[in-house]
Amino acid sequence: MTQRARYLSHHPERGDCIVYWMSRDQRVHDNWALLYAQHKALEKHLPLVVVFYLTPHFLGAQPWHFTFMREGLQELEKLLATYHIPFFLISGSLEEDFLPFLVRINPAIIITDFDPLRIKQQWKHSLAHRIPKSLIEVDTHNIVPCWIASDHQEVAARTLRPKLHRLLPLFLTDIPPLEKHPYPWQGVSPFHQWPPSASLPPFCPPPGETAAWKAFRQFLDQGIHRYATDRNNPLAEATSHLSCYFHFGNLSPQRVAYEISHHPTISEPNTSAFLEELIVRRELSDNFVFYQKHYDSWEGIPSWAKKTLDHHRDDPREFLYDKDALEAAKTHDPLWNACQKTLRFTGYLHGYLRMYWAKKILEWSPSPEEAITVAISLNDRYFLDGRDPNGYVGVLWSIGGLHDRPFSERPIIGQIRPMTFSGCARKFSVSSYIQWAENLYTFSG
Ligand SMILES: Cc1cc2nc3c(=O)[nH]c(=O)nc-3n(C[C@H](O)[C@H](O)[C@H](O)COP(=O)(O)OP(=O)(O)OC[C@H]3O[C@@H](n4cnc5c(N)ncnc54)[C@H](O)[C@@H]3O)c2cc1C
Repeated sequence: MTQRARYLSHHPERGDCIVYWMSRDQRVHDNWALLYAQHKALEKHLPLVVVFYLTPHFLGAQPWHFTFMREGLQELEKLLATYHIPFFLISGSLEEDFLPFLVRINPAIIITDFDPLRIKQQWKHSLAHRIPKSLIEVDTHNIVPCWIASDHQEVAARTLRPKLHRLLPLFLTDIPPLEKHPYPWQGVSPFHQWPPSASLPPFCPPPGETAAWKAFRQFLDQGIHRYATDRNNPLAEATSHLSCYFHFGNLSPQRVAYEISHHPTISEPNTSAFLEELIVRRELSDNFVFYQKHYDSWEGIPSWAKKTLDHHRDDPREFLYDKDALEAAKTHDPLWNACQKTLRFTGYLHGYLRMYWAKKILEWSPSPEEAITVAISLNDRYFLDGRDPNGYVGVLWSIGGLHDRPFSERPIIGQIRPMTFSGCARKFSVSSYIQWAENLYTFSG
């Protein structure tokens, strides 16, 4: 457990409680940051307190994203209470509301979960500079802690994969349970400044840790057994739909990987195909965002991609759409429109279609820089799992050749890997998908 933790600031460790500042990993079970905080609290015979800071403006998050999170946290609060661990939710300004609250409850140590996003790193930096308390970060999102897997930005999956596989025997273990905490909290009564409620999209999955486990069990019963052969077919229902639960931290990727690798009836090549996405691809995203400060813009893409896109900058574009037209699904391409409608009604899009969706934005934008900006903005606004390292990497992979290789030259996209309507039609029935998306609209009333 201690290998997953690193000090961000060091101070004498005296105080009235141990705080777990929960942020990215919103779950009670299988949470190394919470377990580590309990370990420290038991060592020091102190109460353990979980605090959550909520900012009303978080990247492109919409009110319904906050509702999804809120409902998950309300479930979590009740579950934590059964372990005698109070939960506080402080909203407003970090400097004026959250940090003063921390000072007030006087923790001996603050433990937090790891998140490579710029805004989260800034929050931690601010805390470390303003509060003279030890701050420890625990990576409970990656199976191999991000800074242990690699100490630099990796070129591609092929360079990170062997490093992860070498370390997996050490880190891909079972996870111990949380204990009922023996030192009760006797300070201020827990309070929560919940964000206002908004309606979720009509076909949004249910929020929270219990729902996440249910979705995982359903995937174990069904999709995983067809994952290797059918995962690129959006109509086959062979993917897990777990990304929103990973994004909000309702489910531990390590737990999922552990259960799948020890499952008696899941056969190869399904196990390997799924673990490649869940471990290598997902952890590659954190690697990129952690080590590349331009992770969400043109500056972050590889130089071969910049060169080829620059070369084709002035190519004529047959179709040009601005953000409003894209948002409203008003393009000439019925498959693209179906993707955008699916997103609006479900908050989810199948992985294969996410690539198509982003690559077309490159073809229909006046410049690659604008394509990246628009795709990220739509991704963060409409995807339930948006505002995530996977989203920034997904967009830069599709539009900017990140972690990919050059292909043969084409107009506008240069050597970026192409994806076409006819290519999709060879993989699955495009007309059935379009019809399915139309039905979502009809059934959503
Ligand atoms: C343009 C574009 C945008 C994307 N935006 C996001 C996003 O905002 N949030 C997000 O979580 N993922 C994003 N992805 C990555 C991927 O498409 C989704 O994680 C996946 O489709 C989610 O569906 P699932 O849970 O059913 O996946 P499954 O196929 O069941 O995969 C299981 C898990 O593996 C991980 N995974 C799968 N594919 C990838 C991948 N290509 N890269 C990294 N991790 C992967 C995810 O955690 C996923 O939940 C994006 C990809 C592209 C090309």
